[in-house]
Amino acid sequence: MDGLMMDRPLLVSSLIAHAGRYHGDTEIVSRTVEGSIHRTTYAETERRAKRLANALTRLGIKPGDRIATLAWNGYRHFELYFGISGIGAVCHTINPRLFHEQIEYIANHAGDRLLFVDLTFVPLVEKLAERLKPIRHYVIMTDEAHMPATSLPNALCYETLIAAESDKLVWPEFDERSACSMCYTSGTTGNPKAALYSNRSTILHTWAVCSADAIGFSSTDAICPIVPMFHANAWGVPYSATMVGAKLVFPGAALDGPSLCELFESEGVTLALGVPTVWLGLLKEMETRGKPPKLARLLVGGSAAPRAMIETFEKKYGITVMHGWGMTEMSPVGTLSTMKGKHRELPLDDRIAIKATQGRPMYGVEMKIVDPEGRRLPHDGVAAGELLVRGPWIVSGYFNDEKATKAAIDEEGWFRTGDVCAIDPDGYLRLTDRAKDVIKSGGEWISSIDVENAAMGHPDVAEAAVIGLPHPKWSERPLLIVVPKEGRSPTKEALIEFLSGRMAKWMLPDDVVFTDELPHTATGKLLKTKLRETYRAHRLPT
Ligand code: ADP
Repeated sequence: MDGLMMDRPLLVSSLIAHAGRYHGDTEIVSRTVEGSIHRTTYAETERRAKRLANALTRLGIKPGDRIATLAWNGYRHFELYFGISGIGAVCHTINPRLFHEQIEYIANHAGDRLLFVDLTFVPLVEKLAERLKPIRHYVIMTDEAHMPATSLPNALCYETLIAAESDKLVWPEFDERSACSMCYTSGTTGNPKAALYSNRSTILHTWAVCSADAIGFSSTDAICPIVPMFHANAWGVPYSATMVGAKLVFPGAALDGPSLCELFESEGVTLALGVPTVWLGLLKEMETRGKPPKLARLLVGGSAAPRAMIETFEKKYGITVMHGWGMTEMSPVGTLSTMKGKHRELPLDDRIAIKATQGRPMYGVEMKIVDPEGRRLPHDGVAAGELLVRGPWIVSGYFNDEKATKAAIDEEGWFRTGDVCAIDPDGYLRLTDRAKDVIKSGGEWISSIDVENAAMGHPDVAEAAVIGLPHPKWSERPLLIVVPKEGRSPTKEALIEFLSGRMAKWMLPDDVVFTDELPHTATGKLLKTKLRETYRAHRLPT
């Protein structure tokens, strides 16, 4: 027998409709690319998102069409989240920190029809435009006064585009399973792969992260997402802040300690979210400046939060730290290190030890760990194996990528995370290693294989391996291990110089070591676990 409850579709547009109506005067504050502070409200945001939606329709955009963005965290990007998804199109955020070739691959693979671009990234897009085949218009996210002279074909000005439209629109209703946004991840080897989120998955994830035992977003918060809106939808903050009607504070391009401290102080930020590297900058600034008065909670994720960092925030400044783990493929939040009732009376040090784990799953996320043969391991806090996850906001496959989908989903339909961990009986996760061959530096991926292949291109190199070593500022940095060809003796300087022309500067190895032989598996693959063990004590130059 069916229940007798209304089957209302869970749509992204309902978030901004709710906030526009019931939190209409709540502020959205942005530091613009030009440096000035811009203020708007949820009511105004909804009106502008509707203008934008009307403009998209006029440009011929249909439900399901992909619309790309290359932009910082700011109010126009925020409007795009709702204007695009609100008419059933797909908001495709592109990470500007990727290799140019990757951006080109991504825009073509997604079949993006329009590209919205912040002023900062116009020169980047100009270099690529010739090869971005499906894009019909470039919309520069500024007003007429700041429109640059550009070689981009069919360039439009954002403000002019939406000024010409009416803000009258009834958000259309459609199937909640239809796609609302997409994000490519370069988190494993090979070409970037796209998570394609649905309206339904987004709303369910938003509800889950808002709950008190998860991040616990509230209308009383002033929330600053430092994590970029081009990286896993800024961990969903644009949706969750809107669901509860919290004040939003967008940092734009200024992510250094002093700029953040100043913004937190002036806007009364209570909750901020970002990767460990960002918090190191903030801690340094706080040493001289003190704590931003209202700052009460921080979410650290994307890379392991060092215990010492959690300790300093909690003990010295009285700021509550939540440690989260997730993936682009998981919308992205999977676990949070929030306490349980039985932890309430524990001494602070014991509580901090729990916070240093990657946390426990929110309702909606199921986890299993398996050994190399795929056999389930106990959740006893000791046995470590590859983590697989399942849930309504976790990808069931990658967009137009059968091969990657096949590799990522097991026979029971679970998603392979590529992370290796132990899970204790309470569900707290402790990441111990990574099965995927990548390095995470300052929250962004470096593919070890790409760097290895580039190094093998050097005439003196017989074999090369790249591993990530722990780094105090960037979480991890690459070490290049080289077996020289017989009779050759390449230098570190020569190799780095050689690689410089072949990758972004921040991806270059911090150090190079030479050896006679690399360890391999029986099938001839590099044994990265062994290499990580051998070079664990290696000190990277600072
Ligand atoms: P995000 O950076 O938002 O977590 P990505 O998809 O870029 O999303 O990266 C996901 C991967 O980042 C995870 O599979 C894991 O390897 C790593 N990661 C995320 N959070 C943590 C954490 N708290 N501790 C250690 N590694 C983490």
